[in-house]
Amino acid sequence: QNRQWMHSSSGVFHPDLISYNNDKLGLMAELRHAIGQQQLKLHIQPQIALSSRQVLAGEVLVRWHHPRRGLLGPTEFLELAEQMGVIYPLTQWVLEKAVMTLAELAAQEIHCKIAVNISSKDLLQDELVDSIELLLKRHRVQASQLVLELKESALVAEPDKAMRMLKHLAQLGVELALDDFGTGFSSLAYLRELPISQVKVDCSFIFDLHRSDTHTAITGAIIDMAKNMNFIVVAEGIEQPEVEQKLIAMGCARGQGFLYAKPFALDAFPEWVKQWSYSKATY
Ligand code: C2E
Ligand code: MG
Ligand code: MG
Ligand code: MG
Repeated sequence: QNRQWMHSSSGVFHPDLISYNNDKLGLMAELRHAIGQQQLKLHIQPQIALSSRQVLAGEVLVRWHHPRRGLLGPTEFLELAEQMGVIYPLTQWVLEKAVMTLAELAAQEIHCKIAVNISSKDLLQDELVDSIELLLKRHRVQASQLVLELKESALVAEPDKAMRMLKHLAQLGVELALDDFGTGFSSLAYLRELPISQVKVDCSFIFDLHRSDTHTAITGAIIDMAKNMNFIVVAEGIEQPEVEQKLIAMGCARGQGFLYAKPFALDAFPEWVKQWSYSKATY
């Protein structure tokens, strides 16, 4: 077939490949406008103290309601946005919404932190620290209420620069968490120097924790290491009650997952926290 021939003899000019690249470029051009056109929506997922079931925080997660492609999850456009250098304005927008929600929580005397995912590319922006400081001042929100989540893999590429940036952020007073922990390859010496307070164990180890010896061994090692380094451990992807029970027995204090709540609209968070605390109190 003609297409086949074109592919094998000159892969670069394969028509599918060209349209694929145009497709990606088109999507990124649209992303620049998606924020202004209110196509990006923020969800939030609660983080729970496993034993007391208290809500400690909420993690903000972005979605894109694309006019033609329908609902896109972050994994469908964020990596591309990072590569094309359009992630920073998106991060700024997410941070602003997160800090506004923190102001709302404070006004209602709800004590709960908010976590925002920060991309590796954001860490290379020198003005990131100043912009966060300004945002917190403008909305009169305490820095300690904001948690920034960084993927372990984001630090591995440029560890020295990442370390400097994290130290500036920590000086500001925001809390730092290492996301998707266990999937990167940070050295223990590097980890020990990081000004982080939490490690989030990757979902892939947690989903089947109740029936996987390998994942139990890995998670156990992470929990022990984290204790030695004075990090709080957060398990992500708790779906089964058996997994929750096992994590408690293993000494993991915090978690998030569909067992407690699937991500839902950010606007609904203050009310959700109130309802959750209320239903807990009436057990
Ligand atoms: P993450 O930061 O590790 O977030 C946790 C992901 O696990 C979320 O997927 C969440 O919906 C999912 N999850 C949590 N509990 C469960 C569970 O019990 N079962 C299952 N099946 N999934 C669970 P989501 O929302 O698709 O986000 C994927 C990733 O996209 C995030 O992983 C984060 O790395 C990135 N991301 C999301 N929002 C943003 C953002 O605003 N900025 C940046 N830079 N990255 C973001
Ligand atoms: Mg995260
Ligand atoms: Mg994660
Ligand atoms: Mg993830």
